[in-house]
Amino acid sequence: MTPFRYARAGDVPDALRIAGTVPQAKYLGGGTNLVDLMRETIERPQALVDVTGLSRTIEPRADGGLRIGAAATNTAVAADRTVRTRYPLLARAILAGASGQIRNMATVGGNILQRTRCTYFYDDAARCNKRTPDAGCDAIDGFNRIHAILGASPACIATHPSDMCVALAALDAEVHLAGPEGERVVPLVELHRLPGGHPEIETELRPDELIVAVELPPLPFATRSTYRKVRDRASYAFALVSVAAALDLAPDGTIRDVRLALGGVAHKPWRAWQAEAALKGQPATEASFAAAADRELAEATGLRDNGFKIELARRTIVAVLADLAGDAA
Ligand code: SF4
Repeated sequence: MTPFRYARAGDVPDALRIAGTVPQAKYLGGGTNLVDLMRETIERPQALVDVTGLSRTIEPRADGGLRIGAAATNTAVAADRTVRTRYPLLARAILAGASGQIRNMATVGGNILQRTRCTYFYDDAARCNKRTPDAGCDAIDGFNRIHAILGASPACIATHPSDMCVALAALDAEVHLAGPEGERVVPLVELHRLPGGHPEIETELRPDELIVAVELPPLPFATRSTYRKVRDRASYAFALVSVAAALDLAPDGTIRDVRLALGGVAHKPWRAWQAEAALKGQPATEASFAAAADRELAEATGLRDNGFKIELARRTIVAVLADLAGDAA
């Protein structure tokens, strides 16, 4: 591990000030991904600014939404009564991620900024454009079972590993940022980038910007929501495909509104905008769900080992929506 300095921030201005004094400083949450990356010398920050002492409160907004401090642990969010009752898909997504020990350490801000688990990214004997720009990508002709079927590029086919972010994408979460140029708010669905020609640039964060909170707008029908993760092992494995969904049905069984997002399929949490558009106003039937899934996946592309994900995503979307629709389907 490369030597680094460590400082603990007392508040947000303190964190920004410390980060501004050291080139290549990194903010440290629970360290459940960053420390691994430092051990592998993939990340070599000159300083770590510990932000676990910043806000970890989970509090209602005046409009019925929810504000979650970026230092809140994954465990605390999943256990929060408001999250469990009003946004159950978020609690389920978090509980589907990692192990209990990791969830106890991992923070909301750190979860959002965790990096891909592409095995070639962690292997310094492999070519990886994300680790070393223009080096090439050994995953494209290698073992690519876990890689992307949507939004990939000739430079990178990695997927984003977070379960929590898939639920946040479905919920229209807003990410509150603080930086040297002030504060701003970015929708979660716009925070992460597709790889394009620069897979090393993963988010829209500016230098030294810090995630301070995530806010969820009110979504009354999210009480009818869930998260399903399909993976190779029952626990402590990343998603091959995951689906976060919320469904609002009219009394006659017509779909009034829907939120749908996919994980394990792209470089970012994938909001299924096309499927949502296809579903609104349709009867809540398996035929409608399958047609919407087909529309969302029309441009999905498989490589040697991951083509099965296209059908897996289709079936998981249909199964999740059918479960939420219950007797109406
Ligand atoms: Fe690197 Fe992306 Fe290729 Fe994986 S898929 S080896 S992260 S460039």
